[in-house]
Amino acid sequence: MSDTQTDTRTATDTFDVHNPGNGEVIGTWPVMGAEQVQAATDAARGAAQWWSQLSFATRRKRLNAFRAIMANRTEELGEVVSRETGKPAGDALLEIVLTLGHIGWVGGNAERVLGHRRTKGSLMSPHLAGTVEHRPFGVVGVIGPWNFPVFTPMGAVVSALAAGNTVVFKPSELTPGVGAWLVDAFAEAVPEHPVLVMVTGKGETGSALVRSGVDKVAFTGSTATAKKVMAVCAESLTPMVAECGGKDAFIVDQDADLDAAAEAAAWGGLMNAGQACIGTERILVHERVYADFLAKLVTEVDGVRAGAGGAEKLGPMTLPSQVGVVESHVEDAIDRGGKVVFGGPNADGQVVQPTIMIDVPADSLANQEETFGPTLTVQPVADMDEAVRLANGTKYGLAAAVFAKSQAQQIAGRLRAGMVSVNAVFATAELPSAPFGGVGDSGFGRVHGEDGLREFANPRVVVTKRFPALFALTTFDRTKRTEDILRTVVKVVYGRG
Ligand code: NDP
Repeated sequence: MSDTQTDTRTATDTFDVHNPGNGEVIGTWPVMGAEQVQAATDAARGAAQWWSQLSFATRRKRLNAFRAIMANRTEELGEVVSRETGKPAGDALLEIVLTLGHIGWVGGNAERVLGHRRTKGSLMSPHLAGTVEHRPFGVVGVIGPWNFPVFTPMGAVVSALAAGNTVVFKPSELTPGVGAWLVDAFAEAVPEHPVLVMVTGKGETGSALVRSGVDKVAFTGSTATAKKVMAVCAESLTPMVAECGGKDAFIVDQDADLDAAAEAAAWGGLMNAGQACIGTERILVHERVYADFLAKLVTEVDGVRAGAGGAEKLGPMTLPSQVGVVESHVEDAIDRGGKVVFGGPNADGQVVQPTIMIDVPADSLANQEETFGPTLTVQPVADMDEAVRLANGTKYGLAAAVFAKSQAQQIAGRLRAGMVSVNAVFATAELPSAPFGGVGDSGFGRVHGEDGLREFANPRVVVTKRFPALFALTTFDRTKRTEDILRTVVKVVYGRG
């Protein structure tokens, strides 16, 4: 931990973090007020010039050093992740491994994507030539969720850092220990200045971060909170990225590999106890293979249990209040004619068991609102037109999956979603070059890949006049003769349709 981080953790109020499995207090952290948050942003601002002036290659080396610390201490980081979220060790390892791939990609590609490039003169302006470069914003405020406390915020953090920004990171109040581990590991790789700084607290601390003069905000969380953050950003015209929730559809066509589809749907819907923004929530299956698929899905899910001890495939729900949301969606589905064909939440504290439902109306909560729990609805469709219509029939548009052969790409191309995996789930998160983000209530802007890097930099172009223009247009000395020639030239150059 750097001195600056210690200084900014001097708030008097505190909050406790609880083990989601048994409710025990596992950490106590400062609730930072506006003053402490401002100190953190000022510290990051002080480091911004030094960091932005390092070459891409130097920043890449530092990011790789950070990656090496994470890679060599995955057990230690994984243990903090599991302790605060309740997720099994294997799931913690998965999100760490995906993050390592992402850090390598942004470090290795930042110069190609954001470095100097030339722009040529056009037919009408051969005398002009430009160079474009992408300049960092300065200080980026990153506000993260608790469900993937390494992978999700790091998607924005390392892209922002690779682009030359410094970062103030506010982890969720449920996962400050993970945030602190990451920030302290980064300070080992970059000890000179507070390039990545953490602030802890609840919603008010996040709000203070947005008001602290940061130059861009990268927010991941619910749509409702994104709107609040955006309203604050609007006061100072601060740009933001919003990575919000989803209601992801999973489409199975009649020629799909049903075994593979059932295996993927079970994992995509239940992993991390269903608390994944890109988790499968609704399955739409061609009626000709519906019965076969449902039987295979039930077989896949049979044996997947949730528990608090770390021995089961699913951990407890991390956010206590989410248990009630899951139960309310199941109750609403049953009230409206839905049937539970496997399991039932049977909540024991924060431990919620896998549940599969059928005959759930399209306009029910379980098919419209983000459940964020280990539940799946399965529905037959007459054809892929109906599947696409239902898949696109929510306010969200984050991710989707298609299991099909002949029509797979065609179906994927018709989905209103930022990310579509074909014959796979979560594939878009596994590929570091793939832009990650959604449309509609799922948010806007992207992290990961080239688009994610550009999200954290402003293009700056410099155009140089290399020799006198053929037609001197941008001068009061422009003659009628020049204008007459120009009229003829534009007809020749542009007039042929
Ligand atoms: P929340 O919206 O509750 O919180 C997100 C973050 O915002 C937290 O750090 C929270 O702090 C903070 N916050 C709360 N109020 C404010 C405020 N007024 N101003 C600024 N910051 C504030 O979401 P969750 O943490 O519950 O995360 C779950 C949600 O995130 C789901 O909807 C999920 O789909 C979505 N998500 C989206 C992803 C994507 O990439 N699209 C990836 C992962 C999750 P605190 O926790 O301390 O209250």
